[in-house]
Amino acid sequence: MKIAVLAGDGIGPEIVAQAVQVLEALRSDGLKFELESGLLGGCAVDATGEPFPEATRKLVAAADAVLLGAVGGPQYDTLSREQRPERGLLAIRKALNLFANLRPAVLYPELVNASTLKPEVVAGLDILIVRELTGDIYFGEPRGIEWRNGQRVGFNTMIYSEVEIRRIAHVAFRAARKRSHRLCSVDKMNVLECTQLWREVVVETAVEYPDVELSHMLVDNAAMQLVRNPRQFDVIVTGNMFGDILSDEASMLTGSIGMLPSASLDDKNKGLYEPIHGSAPDIAGKDMANPLATILSVAMMLRYTFSQETAAARIEDAVKKVLAQGYRTGDIYESGMKKVGTTGMGGAVLANL
Ligand code: NAD
Repeated sequence: MKIAVLAGDGIGPEIVAQAVQVLEALRSDGLKFELESGLLGGCAVDATGEPFPEATRKLVAAADAVLLGAVGGPQYDTLSREQRPERGLLAIRKALNLFANLRPAVLYPELVNASTLKPEVVAGLDILIVRELTGDIYFGEPRGIEWRNGQRVGFNTMIYSEVEIRRIAHVAFRAARKRSHRLCSVDKMNVLECTQLWREVVVETAVEYPDVELSHMLVDNAAMQLVRNPRQFDVIVTGNMFGDILSDEASMLTGSIGMLPSASLDDKNKGLYEPIHGSAPDIAGKDMANPLATILSVAMMLRYTFSQETAAARIEDAVKKVLAQGYRTGDIYESGMKKVGTTGMGGAVLANL
């Protein structure tokens, strides 16, 4: 197993170091892998002038999976659009054709009070959002800002081909099969032709999955239902922009941005694994960041790319035990718990492994 490690910026190097320790500990289970580090984001701009340099491009192309920390920081906000660290992220997703983004939003029982929603609404929450990641209005052409009739006009293009829709629908149906066999497809077909096609193709794809119960919801209703009664959902599939917004909303139902991992996969299960949060420049270098989202991203990597279910479950169990033992980083701290930093939390996971 070849794993490229891109720590990135801000808290990235701190949280990735803890995740790599966990991975290293699994060597004793007989897991064989090679790790190689590379630069992405602001650190890559500093070193090479580009957020996704050629050396990193080669490294990730040769790897089976990529572990990423986070990119970005205020010192890079004034760079040109091409040099922005976030451009590196979009470029790596595109270069590896990572069209399927899987974001679980799981509420651990010990953290039920971390949510801003009432415990009776969110207790037991376990949603998987499958977001299309390489199409839609984020990549559609034409795009730009130009002068028309004496004023500036901004425009983007929402576009999906049926091939793009069908392949993400397959990923979602297969994911639903591994869970409760329920899939909700989210669109805006009452207004947007692009998502009318989305719905048509999802319905066509459903024929191959008669054991999965398919429902549809308009995106505005889905945003509302996610806070009204989130447990009605199991797997949600949607386009890039709606998925961007809904997956952030779903993650915040759990109240703990530092807890949630993600996977971005191509059609051969090669994947990029990263926490859902950013580089948290406000706490970088202070041993305060929660490394659990990154550690759980390693579990997703073992499950989805390497089919190492036992090792993945071992990591997830260790995380559950750490929470049950009362270890908390600042972002999930409640009085009476054992407050630890990044290294303390990583050490607690290792001890439980
Ligand atoms: P952020 O997720 O970095 O931080 C939001 C808040 O959550 C901050 O208060 C931060 O301290 C806290 N937080 C985040 N992760 C945490 C963790 N593991 N443990 C404890 N607290 C944590 O979002 P932001 O502040 O909007 O963005 C900061 C930078 O990150 C920006 O440059 C942004 O572009 C970038 N960003 C990168 C990614 C990515 O790499 N995938 C995603 C989002 C934002």
